[in-house]
Formats: sequence, C-alpha cells, structure tokens
Amino acid sequence: MEHSTHARLPPGVVVLERGWLSSNNVVLRGQDEAAVVDSGYWTHSEQTLALVAAAAGPLPVRMLVNTHLHSDHCGGNAALQSRYPQLQTLIPPGLARAVREWDPVALTYEPTGQHCPPFLIQGMLVPGTSVRLGESDWEVHAAPGHDPQSIVLFEPASRTLISADALWENGFGVVFPELEGGSAFDEVAATLDLIERLAPAVVIPGHGSVFTALGPALEGARSRLAAYARNPARHASHAAKVLIKFKLLELQRAPLEELLQWTSRARYFQLVRARWFADQESRAWAASLMDDLVRSGAAAREGDVLINA
Ligand SMILES: [Zn+2]
Repeated sequence: MEHSTHARLPPGVVVLERGWLSSNNVVLRGQDEAAVVDSGYWTHSEQTLALVAAAAGPLPVRMLVNTHLHSDHCGGNAALQSRYPQLQTLIPPGLARAVREWDPVALTYEPTGQHCPPFLIQGMLVPGTSVRLGESDWEVHAAPGHDPQSIVLFEPASRTLISADALWENGFGVVFPELEGGSAFDEVAATLDLIERLAPAVVIPGHGSVFTALGPALEGARSRLAAYARNPARHASHAAKVLIKFKLLELQRAPLEELLQWTSRARYFQLVRARWFADQESRAWAASLMDDLVRSGAAAREGDVLINA
C-alpha cells in the first residue's frame, strides 16, 4: 500500500492504493471539505479511517461516493459514516432500495459469501449528470459489465478517469452477471468503448496502480474479453477462483473443510457449477479450484489448511 500523488492528477486528488481485499480509495480535497471515492473492505475499516484522515488533513470529510456496491468498495462506508456524522453518501441508481431495506442477497454479499456492514445513503450518482468532488466537477457515466450498476467518474479538464473495476492496468473485474445466468460480455465491450471515447490521460483503477498507458490496457482487456466470450466456462472457473482467493485474503489461512463448507453456502459457486461444471460433484469441483490456486502460486497448502500466498 502506498500514498501516490500522481503529477498528472487534478489538484487535491490523493489516491490511496490498497490491494485486492480493499479497493483503492480516492480522497479529493476542496477549499473547505474533502470527498472520498470508495471505502475498501470492512475488515480494513480502521486502516481506511486512518488513511482518509491523513489524506484529508484538516478538512472535514463531507462526501462519500461509491462506484458500485461490491463489498471491497463500500465495506468501509459504515465506519466512515460514524466517524464523519455530516457525511453525504451517494451511490449509483439501481440498488437504493436494496440498501435502504438492507437486502444482502440483492447486494450480492450472500451469493459471494462476503460481508458488508449496513450503511445509509442520501442520494444517487445519476449517469449523465456531474458531481462536485473536491475542486472539480466529475461526470458520471454508466459502466455496466463487471457490475450492472457500476459507474465510472471522469474529470474532463485533466482527463482523469476513476475506472472502478471496469478497467485495470491488467484486465478488469469478474463479469458477475455471467455467473447469475445472464450475459454481460457485450456490456463489458461497450464500457471499454466508452472509456476509449473518453480518452483519459490518466486512469485511477479500483485496484492496482494509477496508469497512463490507455492503449495497452484496452488492448489487453479486449483480448481477455474475447477469450472469455469464446469460452465462458473459463471465465466462470476464473470467477470462482477469484472468490476463493478473496476469502483467503480475508482469512489468510483456513482449514480446507471450512472453505469447502463456505463454497457450499455461497450461491455463486452453485450457480457456476450447475451451469458449466454440472458433471462434477460439488465438493470435488470446489477442491479442484483450490488445487488450481495452489498450482498457480495464489495459495499454499499446509496439511489440511489452505494459506494465502
Ligand atoms: Zn467490483
């Protein structure tokens, strides 16, 4: 993790590069208040509060916006709201009711086997409008694909894009609608086209480092997307492994049996197996995914315990 104040970023913008369990956070300092984009995973809340306070300096934090409501992007919302009682929290449209009634199924925390502490919302980030964050007005663009409700934020004067999980320097986030039996590879492609049209000079991704080489990032993302579209089972298997790796990042180490039971409760695993791997028995399939993680070096095994690596 590092603080990076990129030379090409608009004035007052600080990127808190986190890791993979927590998304990056962006702190935007204005004249007399600061705003935050995305809040990380809930188990990192204390670290998030400390990093945000350091980046905001003396300014009160008054605005929190989420690019989308995955647990690694809004898990720190509740902690920020209790630290800053005047905070206004804005989310993309589509899940406002699920947040107000706190529906962990619609919010995907149950199907992914993840957790997010309930939080409050005060408004929406409507695509086609702009939102004042720090010193600048940021355009709100719909960016479906990875998540049907995700938005990206674009600041035209500096041509800065906050791309969430729609585009990273090396790839993009799992295409979750595909796991639910839908199809969203076309949406991913359309969102990549949107990003190409915006032509950002600098991209602040949801995970990984700030980058400026848009062409290679788009090219890499498109070739990955084409491979997934040719072989959706490959994407589904990758997605299931990403979910296990995410859990390992949270737990650091866990008995295999505990992880196998967790996969039998998290609905996305059942959906993926039923659609693409129905010929395999549930536990054997889940165990084979964990073997793959060990083979690729993303995990290690010590007897009956799986360890994050
Ligand atoms: Zn996400």
